[in-house]
Amino acid sequence: MKSTTSLHADHELERNQGIAPPLFQSVTYFAENEKEFSEMASEPLHDGFYGRYGNRNASRIARVIADLEHAEDGLMFASGMGAISNTVLSFVRAGDHIVAQKNHYIGTTKLLEEILPDFGVEVSLVEQDHPNNFARAMQDNTRLVLLESPVNPLLTLTDLEAVASLARSRGILTICDNTFATPILQQPIDLGIDLVIHSVTKYIGGHHDLIAGCVVGARELLKKIWSMNLVLGSVSAPFHSWLALRGIRTLDLRVRQHCRSALAIAGFLEKAPGVGKVYYPGLPSHPQRALVDKQMDGQGGGLLSFDLKGGYDAGVHFLKHLQIFQNAASLGGVDSLAIQPAVMWGGRLPQEVIEEQGLTPGLIRLAIGLEDTADLIRDLSQSLEKLDNR
Ligand SMILES: *Cc1c(COP(=O)(O)O)cnc(C)c1O
Repeated sequence: MKSTTSLHADHELERNQGIAPPLFQSVTYFAENEKEFSEMASEPLHDGFYGRYGNRNASRIARVIADLEHAEDGLMFASGMGAISNTVLSFVRAGDHIVAQKNHYIGTTKLLEEILPDFGVEVSLVEQDHPNNFARAMQDNTRLVLLESPVNPLLTLTDLEAVASLARSRGILTICDNTFATPILQQPIDLGIDLVIHSVTKYIGGHHDLIAGCVVGARELLKKIWSMNLVLGSVSAPFHSWLALRGIRTLDLRVRQHCRSALAIAGFLEKAPGVGKVYYPGLPSHPQRALVDKQMDGQGGGLLSFDLKGGYDAGVHFLKHLQIFQNAASLGGVDSLAIQPAVMWGGRLPQEVIEEQGLTPGLIRLAIGLEDTADLIRDLSQSLEKLDNR
């Protein structure tokens, strides 16, 4: 079971070193002779040669994530974006083509829309809600399909199995950002995806106190990414990997509680006056409910969004009066957080963004933490009441 894997997957590696892992801060390791030095320097994925090549703490957490994801092996990075850019750059060159989604994490979107085209890589972004959109965009020079499910801001899903099979039949590599669902709810490799990426900063770390990223998949693919990273240098510091290993031990328990609370909160919001649409994959009313059952274990995860009928000003007022939810970026940790995406544009959202992404001015995104569910509902309720009395 996943909770057991989270706790024990790394113990086999270091049986004699204690229940809690040591922290390996050393950046360099000695060799007994020139033969050993040469081996250490040339062996791919070696974690005991020099700090940019890898470190023992990173290997241990990568092993656990790989086991949870049913992958052969894993590689850690300094951040989720480090994992994404390294992975993408490892498999494309000028003249190649990528198919990805219109909606991705904002850093990924920047990579796809601004950076890669400048290097001569062609990118097609498609609506993720139908696999045919991906098939139509695939070309002779398509090397990669990049997926993320569910995705901000409306928690739309991509049918991972369908898209993976379309790509595989054309020899195209597939990558899925599985940060939101976590391996507890969704295991893309079982659905035919080649490489799975996490911002370990979020649910796997789980406590808003580390930044790291990870990619898991076949070792042959990881070797390529690893050698790209020897140049790009996005390395997970030993202590961040150590914290991530501590975090992942409670991942299963935390994700299940995040889901329970989020579902109760989504149900409350659906009936609350002043609230328009509620977007949560765990709700029976979610438009992709069948896909949630098929690939997310029927669970919605810890994130939800909803629209305040009062628009931008209502959103600002609402966030100001929350007492437990904190107005902060990020997600996936023990503390509940709330943001109003439109604030990033100062309320002056381009009309096409509103229409294309459903990013209405009154949209609020909640990252549900581990506080008591009833307390969280009371907090939302009291702030909604204050909207009426403005
Ligand atoms: C946060 C996030 C990232 C980027 O991760 P960092 O650790 O902040 O670099 C990538 N994808 C998703 C879905 C995220 O939520």
